[in-house]
Amino acid sequence: MSAALGEAVGAHRHPGERVVDVRGLWMRYGDHDVLRGVDLRMHRGEVVVLLGPNGAGKTTTIEILEGFRRPSAGTVEVLDADPLRADEAWRARVGVVLQSWRDHARWTPRDLLDHLGAYYAPFATEQRPRPVPTEELLDLVGLSAAAHQRLLTLSGGQRRRLDVAVGIVGRPELLFLDEPTAGFDPQAKREFHELVHRLTDLEGTTVLLTTHDLTEAEKLADRILILARGRIVADGSADGLARRIRASAEVRWTRGGQRFVHATTDATGFVRQLLDEHPSGVEELEVRRASLEDTYLELVRAHLESDLDAVPDSLDGEQLR
Ligand code: ADP
Repeated sequence: MSAALGEAVGAHRHPGERVVDVRGLWMRYGDHDVLRGVDLRMHRGEVVVLLGPNGAGKTTTIEILEGFRRPSAGTVEVLDADPLRADEAWRARVGVVLQSWRDHARWTPRDLLDHLGAYYAPFATEQRPRPVPTEELLDLVGLSAAAHQRLLTLSGGQRRRLDVAVGIVGRPELLFLDEPTAGFDPQAKREFHELVHRLTDLEGTTVLLTTHDLTEAEKLADRILILARGRIVADGSADGLARRIRASAEVRWTRGGQRFVHATTDATGFVRQLLDEHPSGVEELEVRRASLEDTYLELVRAHLESDLDAVPDSLDGEQLR
């Protein structure tokens, strides 16, 4: 569930119900350590947004959680199972947005969803009827009007919505979305955000998504994780993260035709003092809180500059698989 809907955050959640539990995740490609001790926990109904610069290891992390990649070290538990050893029934509970259907250019969205949905039918439960009926799904992702079009004639936005439909046709409990809105126009983005809200609110779906769009992260996330140099360097709400950086507000004003700007952690106190000192001379006063973008850039910069290269004693080369 997302806070953006104006309900109490966590109202639908069962805090005890842990969906993802990752400890000490390490991933080495050749001699390049991409993940260096990632700890990650997610609870049912949460929308967690994973941020990080290109090459930070976001896709690698998601692929490990999906069971598509074997980590070098660490423990991974997703829906109470090790994704590498999980069975078909587990797979039916997890939604992954892939793009493999693009080979089926002559199919229509309706045929494709009917076809893929059939695989999930044996895994239906009383709480989670599977698959989602095709008409309902087409409506949910806004593709009803294009239901009978050949896939090769769909627009970029429609294709991505179909990707999402394929990811949720099995009514997943946990959904992984790797840059789901890359290339979307603002309208398509807004519709996609509403879709994520619907999935979390109506279905209690837990969502892990990556994006480079910080406004999107702010809109969707119950919790934001920032991955830099192979570690989670920040974990919290957008507001909580903004409070972590030193100067969390910027005060701007003009006086005598001159522009001024001052960064402060105590905007109220500063403004009070400013107005006391210049009771009638301050104009165009503006207080701007640190945005998620400011916070993100500051945290990533700080971690890229710090020396995190050493492999911890507890995890030397011997222990890496
Ligand atoms: P992100 O999704 O954050 O951009 P990735 O997980 O895709 O990051 O990649 C992290 C790093 O791992 C990159 O430097 C990438 O080149 C490297 N990498 C990813 N997959 C492989 C692979 N199969 N073999 C070797 N290096 C890889």
